[in-house]
Amino acid sequence: MDHASPPAAVKRLGQNFLVDPNIVRKIVTAAALGPDDSVLEIGPGRGILTAALCRSAGHVTAVEIDPRLHSYVSQEQAHSPNLTLVLDDALRYPIENLSQGTVVVANLPYYISTPILFRLLDHHHRFSRMVLMLQDEVANRLIANPATPDYGMLSVMAQYAADITKVFKVSPNCFRPRPEVSSAVVRLQPKTQRTLTPQEEPGFASLVKAAFAHRRKTLVNSLKDEGYQQDTVLQALRHLARSLTTRAEALSVADFLELARLIPLPYRDPRP
Ligand code: SAM
Repeated sequence: MDHASPPAAVKRLGQNFLVDPNIVRKIVTAAALGPDDSVLEIGPGRGILTAALCRSAGHVTAVEIDPRLHSYVSQEQAHSPNLTLVLDDALRYPIENLSQGTVVVANLPYYISTPILFRLLDHHHRFSRMVLMLQDEVANRLIANPATPDYGMLSVMAQYAADITKVFKVSPNCFRPRPEVSSAVVRLQPKTQRTLTPQEEPGFASLVKAAFAHRRKTLVNSLKDEGYQQDTVLQALRHLARSLTTRAEALSVADFLELARLIPLPYRDPRP
């Protein structure tokens, strides 16, 4: 059968295709796949990683938004019985339909890597591990410690949900076209023991979001601006023996967990 030539890259969709087989091998090794594993790949592109995943895992579901690439990979991988190719937006694809313990492996489209990360973190209980290629700068935010410039909402939410390691850095030369930034592969191991109940998690997420909403302000003022009761916030900081002028970036994940227990969500008028 004749093979069509691969579709040209579209910058708007974050299409920087991996061309270095060594990096593909290292990603698959980091995912430690076996025949019992089901994989979710986001953005198969021209299929370089997809083909390697299909050789190592029991099943691969690959979600691609670009119909040209979806049809190209359908043809190229026609002989892969363990591949389900889906034409969809990864931000809308129903993750809850995937089997429990699915492994996520992806070279993410960088223009939406943060919203995709938040979506995956929201569903972290479904995944046994995630091996993701990201901008190096986003990888550094994921693993950042309090009181460092990279520390923020993404660091707190990710470190609450998972143990994270930066596995290796990847040069722009490993892609075509070359991206403007360096990349890194990270491994997220979702925590099995949750500190919060499912009912408490949305309150925690809202508090962390509100705390980092005004980075230059103190925690008390930032939360006040987001509708939280100032007295309760002051009381909670005293309880934690923290300065009343503390900023969000000085607080650890454990501090935020404690604060979420002590500070109720602001009242929101349910009327439209
Ligand atoms: N996995 C391939 C590789 O390593 O060469 C391609 C990676 S490329 C960085 C990102 C891929 O994600 C592209 O194929 C792009 O079309 C796709 N993509 C972009 N936005 C998407 C979205 N919202 N949902 C699913 N796929 C998306």
